[in-house]
Amino acid sequence: MATHILLNTGAKMPVLGLGTWKSPPGKVTEAVKLAIDAGYRHIDCAHVYQNENEVGEGIQQKIKEGLVKREDLFIVSKLWCTFHEKSLVKQACQQTLSDLKLDCLDLYLIHWPMGFKAGSELFPVDDRGLVLPDNTCFLDTWEGMEELVDAGMVKAIGVSNFNHEQIEALLNKPGLKYQPANNQVECHPYLTQEKLLDYCMSKGISLTAYSPLGSPDRPWAKPEDPSLLEDPKIKAIAEKHKKTAAQVLLRFQIQRGIITIPKSITPQRIEENFKVFDFDLDGEDIKNILSFNRNWRVCPMHWGLEHKDYPFNTEY
Ligand code: NAP
Repeated sequence: MATHILLNTGAKMPVLGLGTWKSPPGKVTEAVKLAIDAGYRHIDCAHVYQNENEVGEGIQQKIKEGLVKREDLFIVSKLWCTFHEKSLVKQACQQTLSDLKLDCLDLYLIHWPMGFKAGSELFPVDDRGLVLPDNTCFLDTWEGMEELVDAGMVKAIGVSNFNHEQIEALLNKPGLKYQPANNQVECHPYLTQEKLLDYCMSKGISLTAYSPLGSPDRPWAKPEDPSLLEDPKIKAIAEKHKKTAAQVLLRFQIQRGIITIPKSITPQRIEENFKVFDFDLDGEDIKNILSFNRNWRVCPMHWGLEHKDYPFNTEY
């Protein structure tokens, strides 16, 4: 099974990366260093995670040590929703590059299709707790993203949390200069995303699965929510292969041709999550896991429900 996926830019993207949402600034430098030691070459970052400076520290230390070269690494970051005005895209990317201590990103994504009111608040909300939109359209934001490629600040651009109609709108944009290379969306056995995967594949757009373990540390988790890591059916498959539930959840995505980015700050788990290249799920396992789909979302982004570009009101 391939360890990389070929993007429509010709670049190779490692199929397994380290997630960094919720990784505290005081822990993430060590997590990144341990991950690189364990063999990870792809790190998933975002301005809104408020830890890019510390992620960058870990990357820098490993480059300085001579363990890896910059060109061995695949670093992804994301444009936050308050920077959707075309005139703000470059400075947002510049901030991320400066925090990460890099000259260039391998992939930069529009984090959500929704633009939020620009300003210092990352989540500007009204008195009902719903996000305050700006009046941008992601098609214009995309032009700002294209300028980053031309300026040499990013090697590839893509989207995140876009539904297929929004991608279609982007692909049909008059004067489109660069096609999206990737769509990063929530994906796991309770949200298998088969239709979106087929659609993206048919357009040459790679898919990255976020929250592949069901994001047990999401801030809004409720005790009654389903738990992938505790699911007896996942555990049974893990037992059959003498692997852990987490390893089965990650292998499931890789075998479908999906890139995945589990987050951990725990040394033993960071290592465990990378040991997914030495076993195969069989066709029956994959079919079985796909049947667990229940369209359950870790990240429904309720605050954006009334936004004109809210992505989850359509089937896929
Ligand atoms: P996740 O990777 O599904 O789950 C992370 C949680 O699982 C943490 O609590 C972690 O604990 C635990 N964990 C990790 N490995 C484990 C193992 N082997 N056994 C048991 N527990 C384990 O959730 P996520 O952070 O939501 O998603 C992954 C990444 O996707 C994010 O970090 C972020 O980079 C990206 N993401 C992107 C978006 C987007 O809108 N584009 C949205 C959500 C996430 P410890 O850390 O304590 O070990």
